[in-house]
Amino acid sequence: MTKLSTAPPCESELPADRSKRSTVNVAVLGATGSIGTSTAEVIGHLNRIDPDHAWRLWAASGHNNLDVLETLAGQACRDGRAPARLIFSDPSSISPETALRRFESLLDHPGGLRFGPDQLVDAARDPEVDVVVAAIVGRAGLESTVAAVEAGKRVALANKETLVVAGGLVSEKVAQSDAQLLPVDSEHSAIWQCIAHSPSPAKRLILTASGGPFRSASAAEMRNATPDCALAHPTWQMGRKISIDSATMMNKALEIIEARWLFDVSADQIEVMIHPQSIIHSMVEFQDSSVLAQLSPPDMRLPIQYALTHPRRLPCPTPPLDRQQTWDLSLQPVDLDRFPALTLGFEVARAGGTAGAVVNAANEVAVGLFLDGEIRFTDIVPLCQKMLENHTFEQRPGLARLLELDQWARQETRHCAERLTSPPRR
Ligand code: NAD
Ligand code: MG
Repeated sequence: MTKLSTAPPCESELPADRSKRSTVNVAVLGATGSIGTSTAEVIGHLNRIDPDHAWRLWAASGHNNLDVLETLAGQACRDGRAPARLIFSDPSSISPETALRRFESLLDHPGGLRFGPDQLVDAARDPEVDVVVAAIVGRAGLESTVAAVEAGKRVALANKETLVVAGGLVSEKVAQSDAQLLPVDSEHSAIWQCIAHSPSPAKRLILTASGGPFRSASAAEMRNATPDCALAHPTWQMGRKISIDSATMMNKALEIIEARWLFDVSADQIEVMIHPQSIIHSMVEFQDSSVLAQLSPPDMRLPIQYALTHPRRLPCPTPPLDRQQTWDLSLQPVDLDRFPALTLGFEVARAGGTAGAVVNAANEVAVGLFLDGEIRFTDIVPLCQKMLENHTFEQRPGLARLLELDQWARQETRHCAERLTSPPRR
């Protein structure tokens, strides 16, 4: 039996001379979003409590919502060190002159203000960076995540779309480099924690799903669902795109594909169960039918911190599960008829090749159209299915081909959406 590890010191017990701690420079790409802001909070927390390392928000990017970027940079300054880079990935969001006036004092040197999507790739590759947190939403996170892998970084991966679009390619690149691709997605973090110390391979990975806001909704309720209802997730606070993905259960479909590549398992080794409380984050079944699970409150700061500090476990801002309450944990099989996205997810995970790029692009466009009131909630998944059927499948595409198909699927999805017979309002 292994010895229980000793608890790390609390803040008052830290060595007086904290200057001896080595610095970990973190580039948070997509810093202004839900995962990005939680990551910045974890970095500040680790910087206060980690006895071994000083943690620094070295780079932070935002596409819009620049107030959040300002707040994060200000907080990093108060925590001890200003960021080296602030990246405005959408240069139309601010002019260089305005950025200089507003952000210069929040940087450790004036050359650190950068504009345009290429700067995400540049930061991901920078020799100063130890850890890249891939927290951009959607396919827009692909190039910087690939760049971080190619540069051999530790990559804390929230951007599941990278593996959905290019899982085969990225897995090859990870195998060829010194990179570590560590999951932030709570389900994949749970599986990773469950298999961490097992010398025997897992038999099955069981992803849990809350079921989202429409877990018990009828087909008619889903057909008439408004964006506001679909955005109201019962257990998680997240960005808009992933919230809609959770409502259609396309998020779980993307996670099936993510798990297939991250853990190098076949689609047939993956299962999904509904767990409305979002406390069991996923489970692993071994050859002897024993099942291990990871439990914690629904709070992304824990999987984010674990990806940053692995294999160490340090005190986390996530509060512990309350042992004074009855734990009501239920697990149910999924209803594939009401949530066809899951069948699609398994199909894409089985097929590999170009399937993920096409379905992901169709989903990103369809989610946007639904949020804009252009299509019904129940149109999203059929549009994705249609794109999968209509495209010319290739088993071993290069990155350029995947990006071409991404563009094709976006255009084609918009065309098909215009031809839908019963849009919500027109
Ligand atoms: P979000 O919408 O809250 O934030 C997205 C971030 O990406 C923002 O910083 C935004 O400025 C940036 N961004 C948007 N479009 C961009 C573009 N074209 N180019 C560059 N940057 C762009 O999203 P989120 O909920 O934080 O999710 C981020 C990623 O993490 C997604 O892939 C999501 O699936 C995954 N994830 C999120 C959660 C969660 O709890 N929020 C949990 C697991 C996984
Ligand atoms: Mg998840």
